[in-house]
Amino acid sequence: MTSHSSPVRRHATVPVRIGHVTVGGDAPIVVQSMTNTDTADAVRTVVQVAELARAGSELVRITVNSEEAARAVPEIRERLDAMGCDVPLVGDFHFNGHKLLTKHPACAEALAKYRINPGNVGRGKKRDEQFAQMIEFACRYDRPVRIGVNWGSLDQDLLARKLDENARLASPKELGEVTHDALIESALTSAARAEELGLPHDHIILSCKMSGVQDLIKVYTDLAAQCDYPLHLGLTEAGMGSKGIVASTAALAVLLQQGIGDTIRISLTPEPGGSRTQEVIVAQEILQTMGLRSFTPMVIACPGCGRTSSDYFQRLAEDIQSYLRHQMPVWRQTHPGVEEMTVAVMGCVVNGPGESKHANIGISLPGSGEQPVAPVYIDGQKDVTLKGDHIAEEFQRLVDAYVESHYGDQAGTHHAA
Ligand code: SF4
Repeated sequence: MTSHSSPVRRHATVPVRIGHVTVGGDAPIVVQSMTNTDTADAVRTVVQVAELARAGSELVRITVNSEEAARAVPEIRERLDAMGCDVPLVGDFHFNGHKLLTKHPACAEALAKYRINPGNVGRGKKRDEQFAQMIEFACRYDRPVRIGVNWGSLDQDLLARKLDENARLASPKELGEVTHDALIESALTSAARAEELGLPHDHIILSCKMSGVQDLIKVYTDLAAQCDYPLHLGLTEAGMGSKGIVASTAALAVLLQQGIGDTIRISLTPEPGGSRTQEVIVAQEILQTMGLRSFTPMVIACPGCGRTSSDYFQRLAEDIQSYLRHQMPVWRQTHPGVEEMTVAVMGCVVNGPGESKHANIGISLPGSGEQPVAPVYIDGQKDVTLKGDHIAEEFQRLVDAYVESHYGDQAGTHHAA
């Protein structure tokens, strides 16, 4: 069966509690997501938050951008609680957060964390006042904050000052490097200011999001070397489809491998009409394929080649993966450990039996010119050979039986005996 080499040790950070979820310290890397509904529409927002949570999002961020949105937040929390969905909600504030929290204490109470963007809290003297107000709310309600810097909304006064200082240097740095320094300074000075205002050290998470892969890696590597706050990783504006997935994976994999990152969000632009849960699945798959966490049984499938005469095995691989993912919200409770399972679906005899033996359960479908039979391997041993028109259904039954016998109640009884 598949064995993962252990990932590298993580960058040491102070654990931060967000409701019942811990980010940082020795806690597993947390997957989070963000809704794209109008928060003022409580019903639609509840539906999407619940969908994201069911897909495995452990924190869900909602924008709180208006009076109507702030008013809706307590109702969203109540409705989720009534459904048995206890995922902590994070409020995303820009420009008017200080006003909204002042006027809507129930909103402040219903949120488990506040996200503050130091570049968007106000300008000049107001920036400091309004930032302080936000921190006072975090202190009053004992809530952690994420100080979330974004290069698209970097504090322009700070950047101007850094550029002036740079211009006076004997060997001025490139603009990109000055921007990196400004992002990090914005995050660290805001965190220091929050602590001066009374927010405990273990109530602060930092992020410095950029949209370029190399920029993100550089900034987070430098930021991690300068602080022990937990870091929220994500490539901002990652984009659509494969580009968004590849860019996010490229950036995050390098950082995660260095032990940097305590919580991740994949900022994918959904296809029109596409599910918002894709960002959760991608985040989980990054962590799982890197051997950092397990979320759902993984299907290992070959790419297919000229040895396969149809897309039968591709459809079987997809059906099995969807089926396993679909079962996970229930299996997570009833079949603990199933998320570690691997299932191989292979297209022909070349690598089929070998890969199937490495998986918990695997099937090698017949390639062109082969006998129309499909040997199934269980725990490394050939178990049965399927043939005929119902190979897919029979294989799914075998997968179900494997899950029951290895991770269900029966498995516990069996082990106890
Ligand atoms: S296992 Fe067979 S069908 Fe799949 S890629 Fe390899 S040779 Fe091609």
